[in-house]
Amino acid sequence: MASVKQDIDLYLFECIDYFTFMTRMTCMQTFCASCALSFTVMDDDLAFYDQVSPIFGGKKYGIPPPTLCPDCRQQRRLSIVNERNFYTTTCGLCKKRTMTEHPSESGKTVYCRDCWFSDRWDSCSYGKDVDFTQPIFPQILELVRSVPALNLLAEGTNVNSDYIHYAGYAKNCYLIMHADFCEDCYYGYGFKKNTSCVDGFYNLSCQLCYDCVDVHSCYGLKGSQDCVNCSSSAFLRDCIGCKNCFLCAGLRNKEYCFENEQLSKADYEARVAAIDLSSYRQYQGCKVKRAEVEKNHPFKQLHTHNLENCSGDYLQNCKDTQCSFDCEDVERGKFLYQVVTGAKNVYDIYQYGLNLRESYECSIAGTESYGIRFTHNAHNSCAELLYCWYIQTSKNCFGCVNMNRKQYCIFNKQYTKQQYEELVPKIIDYMKKTGEWGEFFPTTFSPFGYNKSSAQMYYPLTKAEALKRGWKWDDSKEEPPVVSKIIAASMLPDAITDIPDDILNWAVECEVTNKPYKITPQELRFYREQNLPVPRRCPDQRHLDRFAQRNPRKFFDRPCAKCKKAIRTTYSPEEPETVYCEECYLTSVY
Ligand SMILES: [Zn+2]
Ligand SMILES: [Zn+2]
Ligand SMILES: [Zn+2]
Repeated sequence: MASVKQDIDLYLFECIDYFTFMTRMTCMQTFCASCALSFTVMDDDLAFYDQVSPIFGGKKYGIPPPTLCPDCRQQRRLSIVNERNFYTTTCGLCKKRTMTEHPSESGKTVYCRDCWFSDRWDSCSYGKDVDFTQPIFPQILELVRSVPALNLLAEGTNVNSDYIHYAGYAKNCYLIMHADFCEDCYYGYGFKKNTSCVDGFYNLSCQLCYDCVDVHSCYGLKGSQDCVNCSSSAFLRDCIGCKNCFLCAGLRNKEYCFENEQLSKADYEARVAAIDLSSYRQYQGCKVKRAEVEKNHPFKQLHTHNLENCSGDYLQNCKDTQCSFDCEDVERGKFLYQVVTGAKNVYDIYQYGLNLRESYECSIAGTESYGIRFTHNAHNSCAELLYCWYIQTSKNCFGCVNMNRKQYCIFNKQYTKQQYEELVPKIIDYMKKTGEWGEFFPTTFSPFGYNKSSAQMYYPLTKAEALKRGWKWDDSKEEPPVVSKIIAASMLPDAITDIPDDILNWAVECEVTNKPYKITPQELRFYREQNLPVPRRCPDQRHLDRFAQRNPRKFFDRPCAKCKKAIRTTYSPEEPETVYCEECYLTSVY
């Protein structure tokens, strides 16, 4: 796979070189300690590391430049995150059955949300002294293994939404991840401020959208992708401000278009009435047709909107943000992935934002937090954290694990402010000697098999490759649902009108993975109300299918299909899409 590595290297080199060399004076070239590829550290990167370096007793403890290339750093952050695999367990305190991200065989003590946030236990009772005769990371890992974990990560007030993870402020939601402020939403990833959306990937401020990928401010949209401000339409791609359109691509502010052809209201309604989307066969037929319509449509080289001095893809409303993907409302950032709803002065973050500031090398950090460094999960007004793991509303903590509302703690042990400010610099000096200072938690920290982590989506490995690198692999099967019968997906009636209520007592066997999955009552109600067929694939497979519809986090060089100018795009040259440079695209759609 040398070509992939070369591509990544090329992308990093070029996106730095191409987009920002004008503003830079110096840079340093260095080699990744993991994959050995060269990467560049710019002088304003160094200025950033200096800016987020901690200060104790008036002395700055400088964060060194990274030793891993951006992709290896990103892979390391993702490898400790399990967003989509749930297991049933028993709360270690109240003994109630609960869902968790921790597999049963891990033996991890898990508390339900009510117990974890209660004063019925104290994470400081697991506190330890710092041992200066052994490295620091294994001492933190001991705490990761011993301190009781929160079952699933849900922020804020959640109502009737037990099956959500890395999500918050949800009402009547089921299996939504990387999601906030949603109501009546099921099977979504990257859902923000949605109502009644089902089966989506990156739906923002949407209502009644189904089977949509990368849609923004849309209403009543089905089977669509890359759309903004569209409503009462189906199978659209790259449309803005359209309503009552069907099977169209690249339209702006249109109504009554069918296969990109302008019709009268009456003709449009007659054409649409002839299609029954409640039939699984007809729905799938429209998906195939959408791909045909797209063949004649030029795509813009990148999915970006309202940017100022930025590089990356799937970016909206960002300023001075480089080498980033799937971000919105970010100012001065770099190497960010899925950082949304406000962030400033942040580097190397995997999820999520919500006014995260002055932070570096974190997975899952946000909600009014600042000064978060080398930390996995920091939520709700955290500040000045170093090397922490699952922290809520805490300030000035080092190497603390599964903690809520604490200050001046090290290794879950309480100190005074003065003691804290004396001891942490000693640990940092010691970590400089052990080579741990400036490094994020290693993948060996992960409580999850590499294949169950988010890293497997973007940096897939085989079992042999993962094991060779000393990383875990999880072959465990999910518990099958308790049902009276299992029906093969192909045996389901074609139309939603022929699906009996009794389906709620069955499991459907996924046509791809053969994994049995259940249809929930709220989901069945949605399909019936919206006149949509019951899905034939399990939720995980549907998630992977939607993921596959999006472009990779990787750049390719290809000529603009119109003016032949060299462009950088995330559309691979092997893909069938016709790709235009921004200028040619704008003249073609407006
Ligand atoms: Zn590397
Ligand atoms: Zn409990
Ligand atoms: Zn062009």
